[in-house]
Amino acid sequence: AVSEKCFAGESRILVFVRLRPMSKKEKEAGSRCCVRIVNRRDVYLTEFANEHDYLRLKRLRGRHFTFDASFPDSTTQQDVYSTTTSELVEAVLQGRNGSVFCYGATGAGKTYTMLGTVENPGVMVLAIKDLFTKIRQRSCDGNHVVHLSYLEVYNETVRDLLSPGRPLVLREDKQGIVAAGITQYRAYSTDEVMALLLRGNQNRTTEPTRANETSSRSHAILQVVVEYNVKDAFMNIVNKVGKLSLIDLAGSERALATDQRTVRSLEGANINRSLLALSSCINALVEGKKHIPYRNSKLTQLLKDSLGGACNTVMIANISPCNMSFGETQNTLHWADRAK
Ligand code: ADP
Ligand code: MG
Repeated sequence: AVSEKCFAGESRILVFVRLRPMSKKEKEAGSRCCVRIVNRRDVYLTEFANEHDYLRLKRLRGRHFTFDASFPDSTTQQDVYSTTTSELVEAVLQGRNGSVFCYGATGAGKTYTMLGTVENPGVMVLAIKDLFTKIRQRSCDGNHVVHLSYLEVYNETVRDLLSPGRPLVLREDKQGIVAAGITQYRAYSTDEVMALLLRGNQNRTTEPTRANETSSRSHAILQVVVEYNVKDAFMNIVNKVGKLSLIDLAGSERALATDQRTVRSLEGANINRSLLALSSCINALVEGKKHIPYRNSKLTQLLKDSLGGACNTVMIANISPCNMSFGETQNTLHWADRAK
């Protein structure tokens, strides 16, 4: 089913949903689960209806969704990685760009999915591990150079998470739009990467009001660039470059408006411009529009060469099972539904 959508020239956005487990705290507070995932595809929101009557839920608008795959709360990090991202790693090794996003409200499991923990590393770490494994299997592995950069977009300011300091300026060069002066960490093995990313994540901007929580308004972007040489049919050496962008998006709870008019009128309010711009770009891509409004935000400028066109794009919508988050979960599912 996954490859059905992949026809030449068309943008290919695969959309997945991941349900996180109920936390101990939520259980103790007597929360109920309001999400059911059936057959790894169908998602039912069950709050106000008889939760076992799926046929009825199917007919209720906004209560039943299907995606390329939907992951129940027992799904392992490895399973999420293999289903969503491993093909993109393969494509990067063919010199194609791709991007994977985690979208969802604060607390829905985005950082767990992307970064994970030391015991259960997430997509970012598993992708790099897989990349090194695949490079080692190639006959010409000495050829490959892997660079990592890890940056954040916060309040339309770009910062280097591997070497925090002054904001970075975006410049256009032959490789596309780059953050001038960003650290390009030359990676040789997987072992160093988790520590590097955990440290980087601690540099993410924290909101004053949520001092003990990584910011819900900061987007963290890991870019993995693989460069290598191949000989073509005429024995000329051809340089190939592939880039994979893995993005832990800001919390979606304050970004409900999606059209440009609303973007402008809400600019003064506490609305995340990059998240709105990303929604606009994705909707334009899905609708097959010619003009994709990449220029509207820092995030979309940075991802211009990794989104749409011949790139692979994957969206993982993270949701909480908790009935207290019903509204956020429904918003996230609607957003993900529009990205298909
Ligand atoms: P977000 O980044 O979307 O704000 P987090 O990834 O920080 O959310 O997740 C919130 C909490 O739930 C964290 O304590 C995290 O460890 C836990 N969590 C999220 N997803 C899972 C999962 N699939 N399995 C186990 N724990 C999870
Ligand atoms: Mg987070």
